[in-house]
Amino acid sequence: MTNLPLEWALLLLPVAYLVGWFMSKRKNKKARRQLRFSNDYFQGLNYLLNDEQDKALDVFLKLVEIDWETIDTSLALGAIFRRKGEIDKSIKLHQNLLARPSLPVEYKSRVLLELGRDYLLAGWLDRAEGLFNEVLKDEVYSQEALEHLMAIYQQEQEWQNAINVARRFKKDGKQDFRPVIAQFYCELSEQAHAHGDSKEAEALATQALSADENCVRASIILGNIALERGRYKKAIRFYQQVEYQDADLFPLVIDKLKVCYGNQSNLKSLITYLKNVQRNHPLISLLPALTDLINEVYEKDAALAYLSENMLQQPSLDGMKKVLDLKAPSDDCPESYLPDVVNQMLLQKPDYICKHCGYSANTLYWLCPSCQTWSGMKPRHHI
Ligand SMILES: [Zn+2]
Repeated sequence: MTNLPLEWALLLLPVAYLVGWFMSKRKNKKARRQLRFSNDYFQGLNYLLNDEQDKALDVFLKLVEIDWETIDTSLALGAIFRRKGEIDKSIKLHQNLLARPSLPVEYKSRVLLELGRDYLLAGWLDRAEGLFNEVLKDEVYSQEALEHLMAIYQQEQEWQNAINVARRFKKDGKQDFRPVIAQFYCELSEQAHAHGDSKEAEALATQALSADENCVRASIILGNIALERGRYKKAIRFYQQVEYQDADLFPLVIDKLKVCYGNQSNLKSLITYLKNVQRNHPLISLLPALTDLINEVYEKDAALAYLSENMLQQPSLDGMKKVLDLKAPSDDCPESYLPDVVNQMLLQKPDYICKHCGYSANTLYWLCPSCQTWSGMKPRHHI
């Protein structure tokens, strides 16, 4: 500036004045805008506090157009609507946001995710699926979208889609999806088996085992297929895997093992094997099954001797029932009602209990109907 001729400097004076005037005008305008903005914002909050959500919704939707950074408030409002079961309102809100051409790209996936959640709750699974698939394109929200997609495919029993989605989860994520993928393969395997395609069922159960070598369900399926084909040794190998995969589930295969060993006239070996399993896993009770076997292969006295040796270490109603069954108190004995008492008590006990949520049933569900956890249900022990 110092090198400019004086007249140039004089000429620039009005320009500088004009710029200054313009800037102060802008500043005032901005301040006025901010004031109006915060007034509207507090008005919106006021509506919310007075439970006038429709009015609050109108205010926040207007504000978001002025400043998209207020989108958090709008989305929080949507979540409130959803929690209160007013899904039509949260759908309206999210659709309204999506329809605006001014919606910044970085917010689009978030709004899509929220609208997908609305559709999910409304039971429009197809629409929700479409939105979550769109969210997948955005790395930031893809994991959340995958979780929702997996829940949809699980609910719809679209197991192959569920497998594809589960495989897309980040390897370094918190949850290990391999056991879940194995369960999906087991579902497909059981479907194939139900349609009479045991070869396909075998291939799918093998895939389940390669996804998760500790998948008890897959070993049982493969054991059952081998058993159907009369390949007892092979079946035994699969059933015996359960001891190492999840000892809690071992009681599920005892009857099948009995069929296999029985067909080979080798029940004595089964008794030895089961006693070994019992020694390795004291927390599971094989006492009722072993008592039956000893009674069948040897004699009643041997079974009673086995019970008297083991009942105190593993006290259970099941064991008590075996004692009473073998002793069979005669009708004229004053304690003849005891077997009925124990039977009644056992009938009140569920056969399976979910370790995660405590849900109990007399049928084994691989997917707990209550907490939706795979392989959470275990046979009851020590009751
Ligand atoms: Zn459960």
